[in-house]
Amino acid sequence: MGLTSLPNKTGLPGVVTTTLEEMVNWARTGAMWPLGFGLACCAIEMMSTQASTYDLSRFGMELMRPSPRQADMIIVAGRVTRKMAPVVRRLYDQMPEPKWVLAMGDCASCGGIFNNYATVQGVDEILPVDVYVAGCPPRPEQLIHGILTLHEKVRNEPLSKWFGEPAQSIRVE
Ligand code: SF4
Repeated sequence: MGLTSLPNKTGLPGVVTTTLEEMVNWARTGAMWPLGFGLACCAIEMMSTQASTYDLSRFGMELMRPSPRQADMIIVAGRVTRKMAPVVRRLYDQMPEPKWVLAMGDCASCGGIFNNYATVQGVDEILPVDVYVAGCPPRPEQLIHGILTLHEKVRNEPLSKWFGEPAQSIRVE
């Protein structure tokens, strides 16, 4: 029986069995701390998602970390300029594994309305994006939906994904 299929509490003693993989992935989704890194207007909605009305702490995510060393995921909230791209990549490289990336908004996902030489046309040019959230800006409900989609993805990841050599840094021009 998996953790997700536990019956309602009956008061009767019982036995729960699961796999190590399922247990670890379940725990990983319980306190996924995001790196606080707002780049543009989308960051206002990200901050709103943290506040009392939407309350990300329901998902163990009330702590935005100022240091990439303490972060489990990065929410790229806003457009990434070519000048900022190496900084974003360096922050990602400084995060310990396992780590995940959520592209928030049209600009982070595909450049949005900024189809020009100065803007990265989607942060997936420089980072491995796990979840894209569309919108300009996305509402907090959409960001929460993206986060829960990421949780679902993490629950189904093989543990072996994070074994072996860490991802190599890439040079961002
Ligand atoms: S998607 Fe819209 S709200 Fe978000 S950073 Fe781009 S222009 Fe601003």
